[in-house]
Amino acid sequence: MFIFIRHCLFLVVMCLVSGPAFSIPMQAQFNDVEYDMTVSIDPVNRTLTGKSTITVKQPRELQLMLGAAFEVTQALSNDGTLGAGREVSNQPHVWNIPVAFRQQVQFVIHWQGSLAPLDTSLDHQQTLGRPVAVSGEAGTFLPDGSDWYPRVVGHLVRYKINIELPAGQKGLVAGRLVEENESQQGYQALFEFPNPAEGIDLMAGPYVVETQIYEGVKNRPIQLRTYFHPQISDLSRDYLVSVKRYLDKYESWIGEYPYTEFSIVSSPTPTGFGMPTLTYLGIDVLRLPFIRDTSLGHEILHNWWGNGVYPDYRRGNWSEGLTTFMADYAYKEQESSEAAREVRLGWLRDFSALQPGQDAPLTSFTSRTHGASKIVGYNKAAMFFFMLRDQLGEAVFQRAVQGLWNTRRFKITSWQDIQKVFEIISGQHLDAFFTQWLDRSGAPFIVINEAKSIAAASDYQLVITLEQSEPIYQLRVPVAIESEQGVQIHSLDLRQVQQSFTLTLSEKPLSILLDPDLRLFRQLEPGEVPPILREVMVNSATQTVILSHQGEARKVAETLANKLQDRIPQIISPAQQISTTAPVLIIGLQSEVDTWLGNQQLPPRPDEIKGKGAAQVWTINRPQGASLAIVSAQDAAALEALLRPLPHYGRQSYIVFEDHQVIEKGIWPIKMQKVMVK
Ligand SMILES: [Zn+2]
Repeated sequence: MFIFIRHCLFLVVMCLVSGPAFSIPMQAQFNDVEYDMTVSIDPVNRTLTGKSTITVKQPRELQLMLGAAFEVTQALSNDGTLGAGREVSNQPHVWNIPVAFRQQVQFVIHWQGSLAPLDTSLDHQQTLGRPVAVSGEAGTFLPDGSDWYPRVVGHLVRYKINIELPAGQKGLVAGRLVEENESQQGYQALFEFPNPAEGIDLMAGPYVVETQIYEGVKNRPIQLRTYFHPQISDLSRDYLVSVKRYLDKYESWIGEYPYTEFSIVSSPTPTGFGMPTLTYLGIDVLRLPFIRDTSLGHEILHNWWGNGVYPDYRRGNWSEGLTTFMADYAYKEQESSEAAREVRLGWLRDFSALQPGQDAPLTSFTSRTHGASKIVGYNKAAMFFFMLRDQLGEAVFQRAVQGLWNTRRFKITSWQDIQKVFEIISGQHLDAFFTQWLDRSGAPFIVINEAKSIAAASDYQLVITLEQSEPIYQLRVPVAIESEQGVQIHSLDLRQVQQSFTLTLSEKPLSILLDPDLRLFRQLEPGEVPPILREVMVNSATQTVILSHQGEARKVAETLANKLQDRIPQIISPAQQISTTAPVLIIGLQSEVDTWLGNQQLPPRPDEIKGKGAAQVWTINRPQGASLAIVSAQDAAALEALLRPLPHYGRQSYIVFEDHQVIEKGIWPIKMQKVMVK
């Protein structure tokens, strides 16, 4: 019925912009529902046989259901038989149970069915697109959304699951491993999840299991495991070391890890999921060297945000934003303040590139279904927490995060609940702050209208006038005031469409910069945004100019244009007038490029890349906002070397290659709003 899997490996492969079909539980609540299940799986024959005893205390009206792919062999309740729950095959089994006037009711359901074959050629997007229970010797994945077990609709549950598999296979679900037995006859493991859980995903495969113990806060032992396919079992040790590092970080930052174990489980498909107590990552994903430093931490943090405190999906999923802020973004902050600023710039730039209709308020974000929903649901939400921390100060923000964990653990929690916690701990009214950033789409657009300075007897009176677009926001706008002695940052509380502020300064102010550190979520002007290669790649109006007329270079340039744009490029002749409103891609050999730039009266090769490498790629901003990207190579071979790597560098403004190797890359600095003081 509904999928509660968090999937967030946005750093890994290109196809991860699609999410699951998502529907919201009608009345997600917890009134003591417990499953006690035994499931036998045969991955060779792809069959599943199960028995579940469902106990509901203080029952009200209930609905039970099981997916269409399964047959019910027996279904009983305290009051007798339940029937199959459907009249025709290929329909889900649904049992509507009226109110029972007793302390508890119990149902026993036996079911069986065939599982779909495991298809390792599927990419992450396709795996997300169809929550289907699949099985094979290389791996079994029963996602909660496939309705592989009989469930009480719309309720959080506790469960015990006994998993039975043939010898050579091991399986798991989220929770505590209570016992396991392995023999020539087969494998059996009992798992228990004692907290209210949102759903159950089961994984199995020919796993080699490595175990280590982590001493958590209060010396509480936490079992760490890797369930890895044999071909990557040598990666276990490094992964377990990284898990310890993250648990240590987040326990001291937020509070006690809520479970008794954490496992990393490998998947034969290139996927990435986070569930309570485990993360399920593709074999090829786990092989990528940077995963331990990025996505792994994000998935572990979801044990606090998302799988520890549950988002109220009906009113917006805040968990991706808070997790992005405290994982991906926090790692960049630890690296350097420049690296963190570059991330914020990326968020603002991606937001400014949204097409009309792609933006939506944060309260309507549930899960990532396309690139645009990531720009809001992950990035804008992460920037929300960044601004909230700026507003409250580091120490108060930290206490509020801990308070959120202490008071909302295993509870369905809305943005409003988060607001309440932050208000109680900070003692501030945060209604305006939360409302303006959560309930509205868009972002404020701010300009410095004027800056005037009047010399007084011993100091300077500086009057700065700011203006913002409507609807108005309440903003603390940082401005940098440059004088001969240096730069001073001031914050101005902007609450009207137009507002003037008077500052008394000891030094003569020369110029003013608006929010140079990019601390506000705001709409950038087209000219403010540094151009990146991606614009010529994704915009279907892009014009391509190939400067080499014939020979190998021409052929390679055509192939490269094709690969970069992932469609038949719209090629125009070098003699034709290029568009000023659509992005333009230029490909040629070095001397051809230099001549062409001169003829077009465009700026020459920038200093950052001049004379470096065998091939250079860079972008130029044009007054109308549509960027220009230039690919320049020494010879046809240097151009050919770009075919494979270049499409992966869309987020850069310039890249220098020596053969296939990138030797330099970067994003042009943002063209900041700067006003000279009159
Ligand atoms: Zn996530």
